Amino acid sequence: MASLRGFTDALLTTDRRQRFRLAQAWLASAMMCFCVLALHIANGFGLVDTGPIWWWSAASVAGMLVVVSVIRGGANKRFADPALTMQQMLYAILCAAWAYSFAGQAHSLVGIILAVILMFGMFGLSSRQVIWVGFYTLGLFGFVMMLASRRNPEHYPPGGEIVYFMMLCIMVIGVGLLTVRLHRMRDRLRRQKLELEAALAHIHRLATHDDLTGLVNRRHMQELLENERMRLERSEQDWCVALIDLDHFKSVNDAHGHAIGDEVLRALSRHAHTLIRRTDVLARWGGEEFVLLLPNTPLAQAVISLERLREHFHGHPLVVQDITLPVSFSAGLTEHLRGESVAETLERADKLCYQAKTLGRNRVERG
Ligand code: GH3
Ligand code: MG
Ligand code: MG
Repeated sequence: MASLRGFTDALLTTDRRQRFRLAQAWLASAMMCFCVLALHIANGFGLVDTGPIWWWSAASVAGMLVVVSVIRGGANKRFADPALTMQQMLYAILCAAWAYSFAGQAHSLVGIILAVILMFGMFGLSSRQVIWVGFYTLGLFGFVMMLASRRNPEHYPPGGEIVYFMMLCIMVIGVGLLTVRLHRMRDRLRRQKLELEAALAHIHRLATHDDLTGLVNRRHMQELLENERMRLERSEQDWCVALIDLDHFKSVNDAHGHAIGDEVLRALSRHAHTLIRRTDVLARWGGEEFVLLLPNTPLAQAVISLERLREHFHGHPLVVQDITLPVSFSAGLTEHLRGESVAETLERADKLCYQAKTLGRNRVERG
């Protein structure tokens, strides 16, 4: 198993994108070898004119192997299309036209090969490139057909070549139209994928954040707390939780209305978010209650953070719709003890918060 992986890694590299390009180039080379074999079999049956079949075989396979080595060596990354699809196509079509010139009675075989080459390119080329490849194919084959019917009218009768050329035109146009359709489909799928990703991100945000304040919601905070507990179960890191309850918030609603109360909650969340550390997580626990998670923080340090937050709000009344509103909070702060559940930590924080209320509010109780 390991040796097989070693072999495929050596053949295709470990770079994911290069692997795909190399696999494509190897496949194209294998197909070219198959076409060479087919022409040699036809030659064995005496269908091919005596011509440069061996030169052609060597050049066709060598050309494709050059592409493989360029991609394997990484030199392809300098090209606009690192898959080198256009280069491979142009070379393969050139080889097909060459084969056509000496394939004699077997020349119809080349038409099938050409169809395969063109269809292969549909996936890797842009619509404009496919048009260029179409003109190149028709020009090249038109020239070869004309030359062959002059030199060897027995195997390339002019009438037959004209009909063959017409069929070639239809094939090139058909492949071109299919490519355009394919590209449209691919664009649509890409757009749908982006829309789906955006919708999923939106749904995820709705499921994990609070509508009013934009803070993490209670459900998601439970998950984060549980994750933190599991992550640090066997570590020496301390982490703290604070339960924060706004003081006399009911009176804000009573004095100014529920809408202003909502604005206060919004403004306060916005401010608090800028005051806490980037690693801390503030959640709306419900109503006018919040939970602050302080990861990797011992209690003594958490107290400093929370006191700073409390003093800031106490010293900076919020201004909402030109109304200046003094806001303060009471908080219960506690450190998670190894081995206890998140619910137990939260219960302790809740009790401490209640204690802060009974001791006069606008204070942080720790324990
Ligand atoms: P204290 O906590 O200091 O004891 O007093 P309080 O007035 O804040 O406490 P209480 O729990 O009695 O009332 C909480 C108030 O918070 C009740 C409710 O009017 C208000 N409240 C809760 N959720 C919201 C909300 O989403 N929007 C608004 N505007 N008010 C809310
Ligand atoms: Mg409350
Ligand atoms: Mg309150």
